[in-house]
Amino acid sequence: MSLPEILTRITAADKNAGRPEGTTKLIAVSKVQPNERVEAVLKEGHRVFGENRVQEAAQKWPTFRDSYDGVELHLLGPLQTNKARQAMELFDCIHTLDRSKLAKRIATLASELGHCPSLFIQVNTGNEPQKAGVSVEDTDAFVAECRALGLPVIGLMCIPPADEDPTPHFAQLRALAAQNNLAELSMGMSGDFECAIAQGATCVRVGSAIFGERVAPTA
Ligand SMILES: *Cc1c(COP(=O)(O)O)cnc(C)c1O
Repeated sequence: MSLPEILTRITAADKNAGRPEGTTKLIAVSKVQPNERVEAVLKEGHRVFGENRVQEAAQKWPTFRDSYDGVELHLLGPLQTNKARQAMELFDCIHTLDRSKLAKRIATLASELGHCPSLFIQVNTGNEPQKAGVSVEDTDAFVAECRALGLPVIGLMCIPPADEDPTPHFAQLRALAAQNNLAELSMGMSGDFECAIAQGATCVRVGSAIFGERVAPTA
C-alpha cells in the first residue's frame, strides 16, 4: 500500500457513498514508524498525521514542523491529565476526550494558553472494559458537560472491537453524533476505512496501509 493508493480508495468510497470528493480527511497514523517513512509521506505532500503518544510526538514532530509547512497533528491515543498541557501545545486536534477530569483540565488550560485544540469525544461503542471512551449511555450527558465548559467539541470517535463487524459500531456513532448536533466522525482504520466512510466517517485514521507494518509495539 501507499499514500496515493489510499487516497484513491478514499475518493472512490466518498463517491460510492454519494458524497462530494474531499469529504473525508485522511489522518496518516505515523506512530512507531521510522522517521524515513514519515518523511517520505511528507515529501509526497501529505500534511495530516496522527500519533498515539504525547512523548513520541514531542520527539518527532517539532523537527518535521520546522522543515514542512502546514502540518496538522492529531492525538489518537489515551491522554493522561498530567500530559494535557503538553498535548495542547503540540496537537491541533485531540480525539480521545473521555472523562470529566480531563475535560475540566483542558478547559482550565485553554483559558491559560489562550487556545484549545479541536476535540473529539471517544465513545466505547463495544463497552469493552479495557478500552477508553465514555459509554454510549453517558455520551449525551458528557457532550453537554463539555459544551458547558466551553470546549470546542467537534465530533465523536470510536475504535470498534477488533473481532466484530464494525458496521453497527460506526452506525451507532453516527446516530449519537447526529442526536448531539456534532458534524465530525473519526472512525475507520486500515482494515475498515471504506466501511467507515459508507457509514459517514469524516476522518479516517490509517496507519499500516500507508506506512507498512509497524516495527515496534505501540503500548
Ligand atoms: C494505530 C491506530 C490507528 C491506525 O491503525 P492501522 O490499523 O495501522 O491503520 C488508528 N486509530 C487509532 C486510535 C490507533 O491507535
